[in-house]
Amino acid sequence: SKPVVAIIGRPNVGKSTLFNAIAGEPISIVKDTPGVTRDRIYADCTWLNMNFTLIDTGGIEPDSSDIILSQMREQAEIAIETADVIVFITDVRQGLVDSDSKVCDMLRKSRKPVVLAVNKVDSMAKFGNDVYEFYNLGIGEPIPVSAASRLGIGDLLEAVASHF
Ligand code: GDP
Ligand code: MG
Repeated sequence: SKPVVAIIGRPNVGKSTLFNAIAGEPISIVKDTPGVTRDRIYADCTWLNMNFTLIDTGGIEPDSSDIILSQMREQAEIAIETADVIVFITDVRQGLVDSDSKVCDMLRKSRKPVVLAVNKVDSMAKFGNDVYEFYNLGIGEPIPVSAASRLGIGDLLEAVASHF
């Protein structure tokens, strides 16, 4: 059956924007308000000659006891269990934050292959150097993307497909 790819990261890093960019249709709601995607959202995707199922999640806020945020975390945990490959997405504008490291620890424990995407790199001239910081997560090469401008998506999917 088709490989399953889950997009995991904190709220507001651009998971739904990336999901829509890959799915090619505005399926998932993109909003400035964290917590808009409470449920898991699925799309059947094709890239080059490969078919896979993509899952968007509401996001993980590791330490929150807020009821909505813990429901989102639960949905993300189910997505992690379901996934064959995980796209871990972070935000270059915010830089590497403590919650990213905590989410990363969860992903390491899952023992699933993880591809690290650093989003909102709308300009390599402006933000390219800030991408290096994410090597500190210790899960390999950070791939710069701009989900909003659809930049770097090919490189990201190539890294994802290498685990199929
Ligand atoms: P999610 O909560 O992780 O699903 O994040 P969303 O996809 O809803 O995006 C959160 C906010 O970040 C929205 O205002 C998006 O327009 C914005 N955003 C997403 N991707 C990019 C990007 O590549 N560049 C910039 N500058 N903003 C982005
Ligand atoms: Mg979302």
